Amino acid sequence: MRPAAEKLLFGTAGVPLSCPEDSSARAVEEVRRLGLEALELEFVQGLNMGTETAGLIRTLSRQHRVKLSAHAPYFINLNSPEAGKKMQSQKLLLSSLRLAAAAGASDLVFHGGYYGACTPEETLRNIKNSLREILSIVRSENIPVRLRIETTGKKKQFGSLDEVLSLCRELEGLWPCLDFAHIYAREGKVNSYDEFCRVLNKVEKKLGRSAIKNAHIHISGVRFNQSGELKHLNLEESDFRFDEWLQALVDLGVAGTVICESPALESEALMLKNLYKNLRSKKSASEQPAET
Ligand SMILES: [Zn+2]
Repeated sequence: MRPAAEKLLFGTAGVPLSCPEDSSARAVEEVRRLGLEALELEFVQGLNMGTETAGLIRTLSRQHRVKLSAHAPYFINLNSPEAGKKMQSQKLLLSSLRLAAAAGASDLVFHGGYYGACTPEETLRNIKNSLREILSIVRSENIPVRLRIETTGKKKQFGSLDEVLSLCRELEGLWPCLDFAHIYAREGKVNSYDEFCRVLNKVEKKLGRSAIKNAHIHISGVRFNQSGELKHLNLEESDFRFDEWLQALVDLGVAGTVICESPALESEALMLKNLYKNLRSKKSASEQPAET
């Protein structure tokens, strides 16, 4: 039997603009109707979804074969100087994981927190300790969701590529969410084929091939200044070299999910999906032995 085709699935961050209703359940159907394959449920403003809705989303996602992930609330800060706020953040992250599981999502993305008055090293240590406790509960409850810490776009936020990879290397059960717009905004570079390859090779070197074969990726255009990310832009209206980026993903055999976070959502997700398909067939044609 041939192994399943290893490839990238494309989807939107939240409800597509064309969806007749602002509802995650309808969004699952709409994603499939549009010809996309993935959807990231947005818990970013809080966990307002009931268990009944979660169950419905789960059923619909199976029926329509839409791969679901979820994004935890923005206000989580695992490095809060206030013990109470840190505990609330841990609780919120756990509730997000449980809700993601109930809705049938396989991955939960979150932002670790802010440096505040701490050094980057102290912040890393604090967030690591906090996550160790959470991951231990995830294991004891058998929550079937991959926890993914995101590379963040603002320099005051914890989450450079190196920080994310070092945490994922040290904590069993923690995976990265690679947001290439954020990496670009934060570093002020990483916008060429060679640099994209360098990032992906680093991920593979630090976390192994499985991190490349089960990748979770965010993408959009981005406006930034010396403090990092200011605003998401449409890829086609930004200077992000998404054709070179996609070529790097194809050449290095990256598989998993790409979530489009640009304001145009589904139209750019579809544009990327089509470009990806073309680049893949070009590559496999060039790998066929020449006819004699
Ligand atoms: Zn995010």
